Amino acid sequence: MAEQIRSQTQLVIAIDGPSGSGKSSTSRGVAERLGLQYLDTGAMYRAITWAVMRSGLDTADTTAVADLVRRTDLTISLDRRAPSFAVDGTDVTTAIRQPEVSAAVSGVATNLEVRAELVRRQQLIVAEARPGIVAEGRDITTVVAPDADLRLLLVADPQARVGRRAAELDGRADRAAVTDQVLRRDRDDSTVATFTEAAEGVTVIDSTHLTLNEVINQICGLAEELR
Ligand code: C5P
Repeated sequence: MAEQIRSQTQLVIAIDGPSGSGKSSTSRGVAERLGLQYLDTGAMYRAITWAVMRSGLDTADTTAVADLVRRTDLTISLDRRAPSFAVDGTDVTTAIRQPEVSAAVSGVATNLEVRAELVRRQQLIVAEARPGIVAEGRDITTVVAPDADLRLLLVADPQARVGRRAAELDGRADRAAVTDQVLRRDRDDSTVATFTEAAEGVTVIDSTHLTLNEVINQICGLAEELR
């Protein structure tokens, strides 16, 4: 009964996948079509990493890092058209996409106390979202929102993922560096979250040979079937 009431008043779509799988563009596109809010949990890990870097703490000092994270105020806009992030009042929307943050983020995201704190904040956001939300990351289908109405794992061949990241960087990084970054991050991230294989009840979508629009159509079709 509670489950029935929840799904009538709120739609939650959970999307996991590795770096470069097209999660962010897909999630924003789905949120736009369905009129839902959008939560980029990767950006939360990036914003927290920015705060840790600013503090000068060593990421190996896991207790001090976790303490800092618990004290850090993160403001997140759930606007699918203009997601923005602030750390203790400073806008970090652009800063968190810098290569230095990308290189450091797994070191913070593998801190289990940090994960517990961010998962707690993410679950509050999802619970309050109206009329619903598309939440994307690495552990949304398994940890953050395992009871989401739709749970999806977006995958793509490593070469396609590297190609997409390189295109995003618009020639500002060489392919070898991007390959290393994408594959190393997958390796590091997969020590704490399972996002390369679908958990039970999770639908896999392979985007290697699909356009963004085709992926969005597929997901919206699945959402339509829930009605
Ligand atoms: O998705 P994006 O590449 O921006 O994520 C940045 C990093 O945040 C990932 O490499 C991973 O270390 C971490 N992350 C995570 N769990 C999530 C989302 C992101 O550990 N749910």
